[in-house]
This record gives sequence, structure tokens and C-alpha cells, in this order.
Amino acid sequence: MASVRSLGILTAAIAAAGWGGDLCAQVRADPTRPPAAQIAWGMARIRNLDFVDLRDVAEKFGAQATWDAPKQKLILSTGENQQIVFEADGRDCFLNGVRIFLSERVTAHRGSLWVSRLDLIKTIAPLLRPAEQALQLPMPPRLIVLDAGHGGTDPGKSNAKHQLAEKDMTLDVALRLQKLLEARGYRVLLTRKDDTRFANNPLIDLQRRADFSNQAVADLFLSIHFNAVDPKDAARVMGSETYVLTPQSMLSTSDDKKDAMTDVTFPGNRNDLANVILGYHLHRQIVTGLKTSDRGYKRARFAVLRFLDCPAALIEAAYLSNDAEAARVATPEFRQRIAEAIARGVDSYTAAVAAMRPVVAN
Ligand SMILES: [Zn+2]
Repeated sequence: MASVRSLGILTAAIAAAGWGGDLCAQVRADPTRPPAAQIAWGMARIRNLDFVDLRDVAEKFGAQATWDAPKQKLILSTGENQQIVFEADGRDCFLNGVRIFLSERVTAHRGSLWVSRLDLIKTIAPLLRPAEQALQLPMPPRLIVLDAGHGGTDPGKSNAKHQLAEKDMTLDVALRLQKLLEARGYRVLLTRKDDTRFANNPLIDLQRRADFSNQAVADLFLSIHFNAVDPKDAARVMGSETYVLTPQSMLSTSDDKKDAMTDVTFPGNRNDLANVILGYHLHRQIVTGLKTSDRGYKRARFAVLRFLDCPAALIEAAYLSNDAEAARVATPEFRQRIAEAIARGVDSYTAAVAAMRPVVAN
């Protein structure tokens, strides 16, 4: 296991890199760097990427690492009652029961489980140790832009049996959520208040929604959607997903290889840290509040998220392609529950940020 000294050096390097920087570059630039053999988090090159031993992650975070199934399933438990579960070959992990997708598969190697360095820096560390990067977080949100997905000539997904159009359901939830958030003291603006869209070209429409938020100088942007799959999978697939923008150089959840956008830094990537925290708080409240199937907290480079100046998430609240789930969405009670779960997620995110970035009176 690692020596305390080498752990300390790597910890300092990580702090200097702010998790989001180039960790290897920081280590290389450190003149006090010990010989490679003494570096605590022995990084392994797996599938041509840097991977980190989860037992070293546990040691760094003061967490207990326990095998649930030897060399297959590892549980990290922290002193703050957080538990995160990793399984060999899983593309996901479970933090306090919430399913979180990683960019790379967890990999069995040298008798342990390893995660990619970027998954550690961009997902695991910010969720387990957010306070260590508190100065990179924006202040708690006050102005929130709600974006009811689709509208006008773009109906989005639909359900024929219950005669539902996604554009109507998203607007209904946004209006309900607006009331709930205003009652909590937030200022709220909607990208649309009726059955319209900004432009018939989908990319221009999505860009205008981001422009609207940026021009309003919003502190938070939430896009509300409902999902659908091919008819052959419709009976099987149901539940909720929460998305935030994929950080630079990481794979989006639906991808298994790099594409033209993978290495691009978008304006929205300035908020990677706040996004990962926001997405977790939202998704946790949505899956517990709706008692729905946890389809996972995911990442995508959705056009509406790429150019936003503030932390943002896109919520796929339920599957309209599933008749049983569509029947729930058809009721005002369930749409109110969706709005309430999202509002609790916003509150939970705000409380987390406020605890790390307390506002000091002048
Ligand atoms: Zn949609």
C-alpha cells in the first residue's frame, strides 16, 4: 500500500490540478516528485487509458474498502455515511443507491478493481469530496430557467394509447415546477410558456433556448423531457434519467468510442463540477420521489446543454413509449410529483452548495 509521504505529494498535485486539470502534468512538473515506484496511486494503462486502483481511492478518501464479492464487487464506505459500490465490467456505480454512469468500464486488474483517472477526477471525487473544490463552485442559485422540451411544430415523443404529446407534458411539468420554485423564493423564467418554439430548425431552436438562459444570466437551467424507445423495447424500458453535459475527453453514456465532439471543450464545460453535483441531487430526488426505475444519472453532449453559462441538467422524467408509465404521466397527480421531486432536487443542490459556499454578509 501507499506510503503517507507519496500520498501527500499526489494529494497536493491533485489539489493543484483542481481535479479538473491534467493530473499527470502536475505530477511531472513537481520537482519533489518521488521515483515513479513510490507514487501511491499507481496508475495503470488499461485500454490505452490511465486507470486508478479503487483501493488507493479508498485510502485517499479515508474510506473503508470491502469486497462484497472478491475481486468482483467492491464497496467504499466513508465516515459521512456515503457508500459507493463498484462492480467489475460495470459501466456504472451506485452512490447511496443512486445509479451513476461512468465514462469507462470498471476493470478487474492485479487483484483489485480500477476506474479511469477521468472518472475519478470528474465524477467520483467531486461526489465524495465536493468541499475540496468548493472555490470552483458558483454561488447557490437564485434565478432558474426552466425549459419545457419541444413545442409548436415539434411534438417530441408521444403515446398513442393515452394521446400524449411530450411537448404538452413538459410544459405542464415546467409550469407546476415554476410555482413550487417561486414558493421557495427562487426567481423563475420559462423558455416557453405556451405551445411554441424558437425556431423550426432543431439546432437553432436549442441554441436559442441556451441564449435565452445566458441573456437572463440564469444561475441554473433545467430542461424537462419525456423519453421513448423503439416499439420492440417499449414494454421493457421505463423509468427516469438525468443528464448533464459530458466533460471534455470523456465518453457520453451512449457512446463506446470517441467521436468528433469528444475532445472539444464547450462553454458548458466550465460548470463540470457544479453539473456533477447538481445531476446527482436531482436524480436522487427523482428516482426516490417517483419510485421509478432508476435508468441512471448519465452524460450527453446535448445541444441545449453545450453553450450554457450556468450549471444545467436535462431530465427525462419517464418513458411515453411504455403504456403503463404513460398512464401515470397522463394524470395531473403524477406530473405534480415529478415537479415536486425536481424542486426537492434543486433544494438539495442549493443546500449542498450553500454549505460549501456560505454567503458572508458585508
Ligand atoms: Zn424530448
